[in-house]
Amino acid sequence: MSRFRPLHSHAYAPVARPRRLVAGVLMAAGTLLALGVFLVDTFTPLQSAVAVVYVVVVLLVAASGSRRAILGATIGCLVLTAVAYLRGHGWPEVDASMLRCAVSLGAIGITGVLALRNHERMLTIAGQARLIELTHDSIFVRDMDDVIVLWNGGAEQLYGWTAHEALGRRAGDLLGTAFPGERGEADIALFGAGRWEGEVFQRHRDGRIVIVEARCALLRDEYGRARVILEAGTDVTERRAATAALADSERRYRSMFETARVSFWEEDYSLVMDRVDALRAQGMTDFAAYIEAHPEFVTEACSLTQVTDVNEAAVRMLGARCREDLIGPLDRLLPGSERTFARVLLKIVDGSGVAEGETYLYNLCGERLTVLFALNMPLGPARYDRVLVSVVDITERKRTERAVIAMQAELAQAARVTALGEMSASIAHEVNQPLAAIVTHGEASLRWLRRPEPNIDEACIAIERVVRDARRASEVVHRVRSLASKEPRQHVRFDLAALVEECAQLLDGEIALHRIVLRVDVGRDAPAPRGDRVQLQQVVVNLMANAVRAMSTVSGPRHLVVRARADASDGLLVEVEDSGTGIPEHIAPHLFDAFVTTRGEGMGMGLAICRSTVESHGGRLWATNRPGGGATFHFTLPLAEAAEAHA
Ligand code: ADP
Repeated sequence: MSRFRPLHSHAYAPVARPRRLVAGVLMAAGTLLALGVFLVDTFTPLQSAVAVVYVVVVLLVAASGSRRAILGATIGCLVLTAVAYLRGHGWPEVDASMLRCAVSLGAIGITGVLALRNHERMLTIAGQARLIELTHDSIFVRDMDDVIVLWNGGAEQLYGWTAHEALGRRAGDLLGTAFPGERGEADIALFGAGRWEGEVFQRHRDGRIVIVEARCALLRDEYGRARVILEAGTDVTERRAATAALADSERRYRSMFETARVSFWEEDYSLVMDRVDALRAQGMTDFAAYIEAHPEFVTEACSLTQVTDVNEAAVRMLGARCREDLIGPLDRLLPGSERTFARVLLKIVDGSGVAEGETYLYNLCGERLTVLFALNMPLGPARYDRVLVSVVDITERKRTERAVIAMQAELAQAARVTALGEMSASIAHEVNQPLAAIVTHGEASLRWLRRPEPNIDEACIAIERVVRDARRASEVVHRVRSLASKEPRQHVRFDLAALVEECAQLLDGEIALHRIVLRVDVGRDAPAPRGDRVQLQQVVVNLMANAVRAMSTVSGPRHLVVRARADASDGLLVEVEDSGTGIPEHIAPHLFDAFVTTRGEGMGMGLAICRSTVESHGGRLWATNRPGGGATFHFTLPLAEAAEAHA
């Protein structure tokens, strides 16, 4: 059985009161003994070193008292010894009795010093024992037979056994400690270096297994013999479970990231966000307005955004040899996509978490790819260094779509040409008849009038026929015109800003290709117009497409602005403004007539159809050249409110 006394407070607590009693008894016994020794030493003729018995007095006091009591007892005993000697022998002479006195004084002094040192050590040990109690970690001490000799409150918490139950039991039986590796390795470290640290599996009182981060120290006595092993432990079961769950989820995410057929990019926006924060600190509040006014910020932000990781699908899509080829600034892959990037930036800055759309990328061979992308901010506290972007290559699909559209356009053109041909033939036929009749009746009326005696009645009859046939011809022309200008099919209120945005998306490719900066100045709060949304969208696309074409040949900055505002005449005024060639002077007076074009491949029908569409809605379409170069097309539309009020 162990020779070490358990230091646990539960073991101390019950003996606190008896100890105080014992201390009192020992103190009283010491005092009485000191008195007895003094009397014997002073008043009896005993020629022996009685004073040495004072040593017992000092030891009695030391066993129970405080530092001050030990000091007091030692000095007291020294004084009593000296007094008894002087009283019995007078002024000291060097003889046997003086030697005895000196031996007694020495013995008392040495005992006092040793008692004080021992007292200090006891205080230190008691302090350490209290510290062990205070710590939240589990601490227990086992002797070399594996018997538990100390068990603190932390150990009670961790293993569920009270000190009373654990003390005296073998640690191995109680805790069934299992080492992840070889137990021998731990023993070698412990007995060699005196320390071992590692994770162990131990059994809780209720049978469950706890994972403990253990720190063991081997304590030796002054002769170097191993005496006890101190084992401190921290319960890391929950932490390990959480780490394992995290690692598992990380593994699953990795495998999804790696094996997905969609290409995934991880992007780091933290440098951009630092810039945005600095701007905010300088008082910037409206980021959308800021990038509108500072388009160069978008370019800079794109170069500050870093691609930090990509999956295999991305490597394949971008024609890279390995993922490292793609790691780096984003602007290498996104030249000319500032508009899309600006939209993404807005989403990131306002924290909405998701942005998606269509854009262009350049692969490492310099080929332009059309892609669909979706960007997700990670959940939880805003982290701009791990923004996940999924990208799907739709270049092939787009190419097919474009081919289909071009084919449709060619077909439509062919159909129009045929229809025009047929229409001209029928117009010629239908108008020719009344015209021929008009000529015949006109000539007849001339003949009646040129007679020597003009026959006014017959001439009037012939002229009436001329008028009738002219009306017929005019009706034919009217019928053809109403056929050509399609009446609007439906009149609905619609959101002009959304319509313009759709038009911009339709022309995104052209706009990016010619590096045109597009500004859409149609506030969501602009008054809503009313009309056939599909037809009016054709008008806006037509005007924007014409503007893009007019700018494609000019050098210098290319700006396309679409703006809308309430018009003085209770309507909505929409303007499409460009910095292109301007309207050639020679066609300006007939700009909106059919078949007026300066483009070889053009039909000259676009503006004619636009005007007839706008006019059929009750609006006007006109164009002006800008003083600094470029043209502005203006058209008005009725407002939904006004139309509803009149209805
Ligand atoms: P098309 O585009 O087939 O030529 P349109 O009726 O759309 O037919 O245009 C007629 C002509 O008007 C164009 O050929 C061009 O010369 C001129 N035009 C149209 N829009 C603009 C513009 N924004 N800037 C300069 N000229 C323009």
